[in-house]
Amino acid sequence: MAKPHKDRLDIKPPREKKPRVLIDLDGVVRDFVGSLIRVYKKVYPEHDILPVQSRELEKYFPIGEKVYQFMAPGYIEDIMEGAEPYPGAVEALNRWENDFEIVVVTAQPAITRASTYLWIGKHRIPTNEVHISYYKYEIDGIALLDDFVDNLEEFAATGRLAVCLDQPWNQRWKGPRVKSVDEFFRLVLEHLYGDQRDRERVGDLA
Ligand SMILES: [Mg+2]
Repeated sequence: MAKPHKDRLDIKPPREKKPRVLIDLDGVVRDFVGSLIRVYKKVYPEHDILPVQSRELEKYFPIGEKVYQFMAPGYIEDIMEGAEPYPGAVEALNRWENDFEIVVVTAQPAITRASTYLWIGKHRIPTNEVHISYYKYEIDGIALLDDFVDNLEEFAATGRLAVCLDQPWNQRWKGPRVKSVDEFFRLVLEHLYGDQRDRERVGDLA
């Protein structure tokens, strides 16, 4: 068996300055609502759940306010750790990893912190930096992808690019909106280099 190459762990790669982009998890990469429904159905298999259109979950689950019992120990670990990524979301992060510094910024109460780190590891999210914070606008980065309008508004107020991942619960956001993580990265590229490309095109025509 080949000897493990200890030296490789010590090699410092050349300094790369990639644009920092902030990526939310729940509602963007991790399907929290889908996972909540999955766990709810284990307890109430007969119940019909309405399509979730806002963060007021009690409106959509037949047990009303009692739905928040699923946010407590015993259920919440399964919901957070067992959630599926949205189709294509992790693939998009991997695809753009060489072009951008992907910074995960997710608001979590203390009760979901460990499950969130486990989920990030389980799905091998390509990030070197994870912030658990409700104050996303304080974090350095040229753009934010989020599904929660309050976060988008706060971030946009700092003069940076706030992009909404389209969900039924964020239709009041009037700013930039994308349907997928991949589309977000294309939009950021456009934002960064769009002018430059236009100028090159004008140059070609001259
Ligand atoms: Mg979110």
